[in-house]
Amino acid sequence: MMSEYRLLIDGQLVAGAGRMDVLNPANETVLAQCPLADLDQLEQAVAAANRAFPAWSQTPIADRQKKLIQVADAIKANADRVTHVLTGEQGKPLEQAAAEVGFAEIFCRHFATQELSSEVLLEDDKQRVEIHRKPLGVVAGIMPWNFPFLIAVYKLAPALLAGNTLILKPAPTTPLTALILGEIVKDLLPPGVLNIITDNNDLGAALTKHPNIAKISFTGSTPTGKAIMASAAGTLKRLTLELGGNDAAIVLDDADPKKIAAGIFGSAFLNSGQVCIALKRLYVHESIYDSLCDEIAMMANSAVVGDGMESGTQFGPVQNKAQFEKVCHYVESARQTGKIIAGGAIPDRPGYFVPLTVVRDIEDGTPLVDEEPFGPVLPIIKYSDLEDVIARANRSPYGLGGSVWSSNLDRAHQVASRIDSGTVWINQHCAFGPHIPFPPAKESGVGVEWGKEGLEEFTAMQVININKLG
Ligand code: NAD
Repeated sequence: MMSEYRLLIDGQLVAGAGRMDVLNPANETVLAQCPLADLDQLEQAVAAANRAFPAWSQTPIADRQKKLIQVADAIKANADRVTHVLTGEQGKPLEQAAAEVGFAEIFCRHFATQELSSEVLLEDDKQRVEIHRKPLGVVAGIMPWNFPFLIAVYKLAPALLAGNTLILKPAPTTPLTALILGEIVKDLLPPGVLNIITDNNDLGAALTKHPNIAKISFTGSTPTGKAIMASAAGTLKRLTLELGGNDAAIVLDDADPKKIAAGIFGSAFLNSGQVCIALKRLYVHESIYDSLCDEIAMMANSAVVGDGMESGTQFGPVQNKAQFEKVCHYVESARQTGKIIAGGAIPDRPGYFVPLTVVRDIEDGTPLVDEEPFGPVLPIIKYSDLEDVIARANRSPYGLGGSVWSSNLDRAHQVASRIDSGTVWINQHCAFGPHIPFPPAKESGVGVEWGKEGLEEFTAMQVININKLG
């Protein structure tokens, strides 16, 4: 029997105005039915969040911290169930789904330890200037489908800690784990503090222009991010937009291909390449190009791609049909513009499976190199001149992450500082944590998530400036 999934509105689990099938990407069968909210239910969620805001924002931060610890405990207690549903709806292997749920708990516990203390900027006989951080009001968190549970939790934790109330809206193809989150924390939070609604890609605009929502925290594609910015302009909402990326990695001529291949392979193909900060363009110096291509192709050829529920599976399917078709298109275009040395043959079977595909002898100016494939396809580009390759890495409109690989850390550092992206890693890629800010550059977004700076994005700064002689 299928589980009954319900929306969370004003502290109640409720049926949706409509229903929708959620597919398992590993076999395209119906995994579950999920409720669909309509505009009335969206309005109920916004009204509930507004009603809850005054009391929640006045709740001492120590009490809000305790609530987040209870949320983290609930995630831990329900980890097995969430893990299985996550693999079912998203496709990733069970072990990686368990890791995602574990990370969600870690993010929640981290923000439960954070403070938003006021500071005295200056004080003398005449004047005292204080800086305070106040919650914004109702925040709407809009999520993508690649890490549906982790992203829901890492929006929830800082938003609620800061004293805001929240409406979460998962992506239509991965709504189930977010709905479970609502179910497991419902009784821990006052009614209306957290609301979870679902849609079929049709409620985003109503949220982003709503006059009673103060901030949008969005993770998703750059085109949708631009639509949100335009939609939010009418009410001048605060925005945090974590968008697409096309992370370049530059391998210097002194790197050891055998030593770095596993790190590069792992960060290119993690979650079957469906990671905003996956390594997506690999630039390798000509002196080690052949050997690094061979190492990475060997790993890709021996990788086990399959149903995430089956033991031994290392990489799951692409999450949904539209994305699968997009990735297949990139594979086809790469066949014309480069040489496929691993993968490339889409299996004729149910499920959105794409073998890990490695493409060499491909250049800038091709779709696979210039665009964001968001799937398990890695182009490896040869370079000879370091200045030229830095310019090529920076030519992208995106600027989420990037990396430099070298046996000489000083040299790598010099190159890293010239990469135009929010994060640059050295001899690694994709490393992150709740205490490390995650800032996008260029069209990869606006604002910052995580770290102290990410928490502060859920607040408004207020200056109190006192004339002591008045
Ligand atoms: P998407 O932009 O299509 O959808 C994301 C969310 O936005 C979904 O919940 C969707 O329903 C909603 N949405 C759609 N239209 C909307 C509108 N007009 N207004 C408001 N909301 C709307 O993205 P996706 O395909 O789900 O995710 C893949 C993309 O997300 C990739 O580009 C990837 O790089 C990016 N991503 C970025 C990060 C990051 O932190 N920078 C993390 C994960 C994914």
